[in-house]
Amino acid sequence: MNIIFIAPPGAGKGTQSEMLVNKYGLNHISTGDLLREEINSGSDLGKKIAEIINGGNLVSDDLMIEMLSKKIDELGIEKGIIFDGFPRTENQAIMLDKLMEEKYASKINYVFNLVIEKSEAMKRALGRILCPSCGKIYNVYFDKFDVDGYCNVCNSKLEKRLDDNEESFNVRFDSFISKTKPLIDFYSNKGILYEVKCGDKKEETFEKIEVLLNK
Ligand code: AMP
Repeated sequence: MNIIFIAPPGAGKGTQSEMLVNKYGLNHISTGDLLREEINSGSDLGKKIAEIINGGNLVSDDLMIEMLSKKIDELGIEKGIIFDGFPRTENQAIMLDKLMEEKYASKINYVFNLVIEKSEAMKRALGRILCPSCGKIYNVYFDKFDVDGYCNVCNSKLEKRLDDNEESFNVRFDSFISKTKPLIDFYSNKGILYEVKCGDKKEETFEKIEVLLNK
């Protein structure tokens, strides 16, 4: 089973992916995480990527598909994959279909379009903090911490993403809305697009996703 999340920043695609991984044992590829890993490596490529991301812009399709394909090779396709943050453009969707079919004899089964009000998404994005060691995502407004500012799972110091500021959020959210329509039409025409309205709590959203998966 291969799943795509299409969602604006702050909708919780990372959190929903984590819940699906825990329950169904799928592999999870977040293109945002792949890019942040490259940035943290300190490479020249990472420096260029940082400039693009921090301005709220998109990294090129060719670079993205190259990084994605490398990661799929590493994980294998057998367990199924959650694609979190990819594709973001119709061109990427076409490239992904081709890659899945020609290289892995596989295909995408579900595309979940997470729908959320901009004001709510902004609150979530601005409150988001991540664990750089185990990848757990928290929100300062909703989560409880054993020790303030530290990961409940592995005790590492939590960090805020540089692009989770108001200015970058606005660029990312607005560009998501304008760029996503063709992507939604693309998957809708294939009959695999499912709209999921985000609930107040992550569990509510997860329940809606599970209903669709178990249909
Ligand atoms: P995310 O963690 O999914 O919110 O991604 C953070 C940032 O990484 C985005 O705002 C983009 O700048 C970049 N990015 C992530 N995925 C992609 C993609 N599929 N195509 C282009 N840029 C991406």
